[in-house]
Amino acid sequence: MQNLAPYAATSESTLGREVYEEPPSYRSEYQRDRDRIVHSTSFRRLEYKTQVFVNHEGDLFRTRLTHSIEVAQIGRALARALRLNEDLTEAVALAHDLGHTPFGHAGQDALNECMSSFGGFEHNLQSLRVVDILEEKYAEFEGLNLTFETREGILKHCSIVNAKRLGKLGERFLQQHQPSLEAQITNLADEIAYNNHDVDDGLRAGLISVEQLLEISLFKEQHDIVKKLYPALSSRRTIHEIVRRMINRLVSDLVETSNKNLADIYPISIEEVRQHPTPLIQFSEKMTEMNLELKRFLRNNLYSHFRVYRMTKKAQHIVEMLFEAFMNDTKLLANEYRTKAQAMESDNGNDGRARVVADYIAGMTDRYAITEYNRLFDPLKLT
Ligand code: MG
Repeated sequence: MQNLAPYAATSESTLGREVYEEPPSYRSEYQRDRDRIVHSTSFRRLEYKTQVFVNHEGDLFRTRLTHSIEVAQIGRALARALRLNEDLTEAVALAHDLGHTPFGHAGQDALNECMSSFGGFEHNLQSLRVVDILEEKYAEFEGLNLTFETREGILKHCSIVNAKRLGKLGERFLQQHQPSLEAQITNLADEIAYNNHDVDDGLRAGLISVEQLLEISLFKEQHDIVKKLYPALSSRRTIHEIVRRMINRLVSDLVETSNKNLADIYPISIEEVRQHPTPLIQFSEKMTEMNLELKRFLRNNLYSHFRVYRMTKKAQHIVEMLFEAFMNDTKLLANEYRTKAQAMESDNGNDGRARVVADYIAGMTDRYAITEYNRLFDPLKLT
């Protein structure tokens, strides 16, 4: 194991698992978490879930799986540079999107709307639900029985109502405390990954242009450097050079600023990190501004582009129709879910039934949701 800083998470300082297990022999506690995540069913499904572009729109766009791997790559680089725990960072990164519905944010918003009178739907909380309950693989426990630290990292946001139900894991949302530095890293590695790969995917899809992006300082800065160094480079390679340099710029700024914060405060343990009133992993003020400018650009030009919006509306429609059909008639659910819906309904009434329907829909890949929609509503589809 690398030489970790005193404020890093370690296997020895873990707050443990819900069900006690002997420590692993040849791996760290967080390697074990990472390995369980990689072997989970929900992890494999990420391959066919949308990041921004629906899976069938093209083979070259990011999916939730490749996105999660990019987050893990950036996260590990940050963790190593800051002498933090790489294994924990990787585990959180690979699990952070497990609870995402099909069709990206459109699916999440639609499902949240459908669930509004049944306790709502939050994708972060759903990721936790996946690793705590929904993965049914192990003889000795429900879910993956991950460490507190990995679960803490997965739960990036949480409403106060839900935080109150989560015991120790929810406390930080009530007391305004922080998660581990590894969780803070993953949070920003997620942003670095999606902002940059959305630029790349958006350009590839022809939804945004280099000319438009020249208005954005983070892009223009690297564009001018690359153009000067390699004036004759093909446009595809130029874009890749710019994007990789933007990622590098963001990562370097994050390492420098966070190192400075850590040197100033010098927390002597992970507990002190948690008690600190603000996150210590941060961009500089200037980079925060530049990053925001890029995010705003993507929101106004890519995420709301009519072609993305059109798919969004379709996705909403599919999720709403599936929810309504299953909610009104649980006999339409696959056997396993029907049994669960009956059990949950007898405990928690309509809320229980709705939760099982939400779990079922959230677990679907894009293409499974489309197939299921056709099976239910296309009168010519008889199987
Ligand atoms: Mg993500």
